[in-house]
Amino acid sequence: MDYYAVPIAKLVEEFQKLPGIGHKSAQRLAFHIINLPNEKVQGLANSILEAKQKTKYCSVCSNLTDVDPCSLCSSTSRDKSLICVVQDARDVVAMERTREFKGLYHVLQGAISPMQGIGPGDIRIKELLKRLGDGEVKEVILATNPNVEGEATAMYISKLIKPLGIKATRIAHGIPVGGDLEYADEVTLAKAIEGRREI
Ligand SMILES: [Zn+2]
Repeated sequence: MDYYAVPIAKLVEEFQKLPGIGHKSAQRLAFHIINLPNEKVQGLANSILEAKQKTKYCSVCSNLTDVDPCSLCSSTSRDKSLICVVQDARDVVAMERTREFKGLYHVLQGAISPMQGIGPGDIRIKELLKRLGDGEVKEVILATNPNVEGEATAMYISKLIKPLGIKATRIAHGIPVGGDLEYADEVTLAKAIEGRREI
């Protein structure tokens, strides 16, 4: 058992509850904070509180935002005929980083997982269908994760969308850029062949 003054022990314990933070890192962060000037610590505490208090879910796309609708939904330069469906708000950040996608998003906040008791009613599918009702959307790109839950979710949504006359597409999976064919597992390789395109 390490010896700490009680307030430091509490701080180490709190940091350790954060994702990806082990005991050593928690200890390093706690001592770093103790050594900071008061105003820096106050600034950090304020940022944490403000991020939590000022962030909500967009009433249109369910992405995290401080204004409602979010800046992506209210932008006039985005292609409103295209919706990219993702599982998590972090996926929007990843997609935006590519600068390739100019449409809108829909964040499901999860994926269908019978194993974890998560059904279609537990994620934001109903909200997605509501958005498709106005006839403006022509294509829905299903960008859920390439695992069992993500595939099941994509299949489920595509079956609901097709009768509406809206194109449902699935992002391609395959060999990572810079990767080596011989090291790819057979599922990834099979997906890469399946998703091939003419060049
Ligand atoms: Zn939005």
